[in-house]
Amino acid sequence: MATMNISSLTARRAAIGVDVGGTKIAAAVVDASGRLTHRVQRATDVSGVDATLASIRAAIEAVLADAGPTAGDVGGVGLGIPGKVDPVSGVGLLSVNLGWRDAPVVATLEAALGLPCRIENDVSVGALGEARYGAGRDRQSLVYLSLGTGVAARVVIDGRLYRGAGGMAGEIGHLVSDPDSLLCKCGARGCLEAIASGPGIAARAQQAVDARTPTALRDMAAGGPVTTRMVFAAADAGDEVAQTIVERTGQYLGGAVKTLIMLYDPEIVVLGGGLAQAGNRLTAAIIREVDRLAAESYVFRDLWRPDRLAVSVLGPDVALLGAAALAL
Ligand SMILES: [Zn+2]
Repeated sequence: MATMNISSLTARRAAIGVDVGGTKIAAAVVDASGRLTHRVQRATDVSGVDATLASIRAAIEAVLADAGPTAGDVGGVGLGIPGKVDPVSGVGLLSVNLGWRDAPVVATLEAALGLPCRIENDVSVGALGEARYGAGRDRQSLVYLSLGTGVAARVVIDGRLYRGAGGMAGEIGHLVSDPDSLLCKCGARGCLEAIASGPGIAARAQQAVDARTPTALRDMAAGGPVTTRMVFAAADAGDEVAQTIVERTGQYLGGAVKTLIMLYDPEIVVLGGGLAQAGNRLTAAIIREVDRLAAESYVFRDLWRPDRLAVSVLGPDVALLGAAALAL
C-alpha cells in the first residue's frame, strides 16, 4: 500500500518544459526522472509581444491536449527564454531574438493556463538541465558553456544557478579574446562571441574568402555568404584554411575554458549548444588547447584534469529538461 502511494505521488511530479527560440518553440512533458513525452514544436510568431506569447501558449496547450488524461500529472510550466529575464517578477526584460522588451510572460501564461509558470534565460536552463539530468548529475558544481549563435556560460553550485548581482554572471562571450579581430555587436573588438560563435566562425571564413585566400570555401559559397556548416565541411574535406579557422576557434574557446576553470574551479565544464554538437573537430581542438595551456602553467595544471571537461550528452533536449526543472 505504501509503495502504491509513493508511486502515485511520483506520477504527479511532472512539468512542461518549454524551449522558446527566435524561430521555433519546443515543448514537452518532463517527469522527475527526466523522461520527455508529448513533445510538440511550433513556429514562433515574433510579429509582436502578444503574438509571441500567444504562440508560446499554443505550444503548451498542444502538449496538454496531447497528454490527454495524464495532463493532470503536470504541476507547472518552466520556460527557457533567449535574452535577459527577471525570474522573480516573471518578466522577459529584453530579447533581441524575440524582439521584445518587458514582456509579462509569467502573468500572461498563468492567467491563460491556470498553472504556475517560471522563466529563466535559455543558457541558464541549459546549465540547469545539464546539472540535473546530464554530466553534472552527481556533481556539486558545474559550468555550462553554450556555443552556438552566441557564446555564454552559466554556473550551477549545489543545484542552484549562480546569477550574480544583476543576473548576468557567466557572460563570457564578451571577454575580449583577440583585440585585433572582428568588431562585436556589443561595441568592443574581438569578443569571444564575435569570433568563436557560429556566426563568428562564418565571418572569419568570409574574411578569408574576401581576401582571396585560396580555399575551397569560395566555390562552396558560390558568390553567396560562407556559412559555419561550410567551414566544418571544408575542414573535414582537407581544406587548410577551414582547418586553421576551426583550430583557431578551438584555441579561443580553450582559453575560455581555462578562464572558467580558474574563476570557478568547477567539478566539470560542459560544452553545449550547436557548435558542441557539430562533430568532434572543434571539441578536439578545444581540448588540445586546454592541454597546451595546462602544460605551460603549473598553476592551471594543478586544477586541470581531462574528466573536468565534457560535451553535453543531452544535446538539443537540454533546454527542455532544464526549463521543466524550474517547475519540478
Ligand atoms: Zn562583445
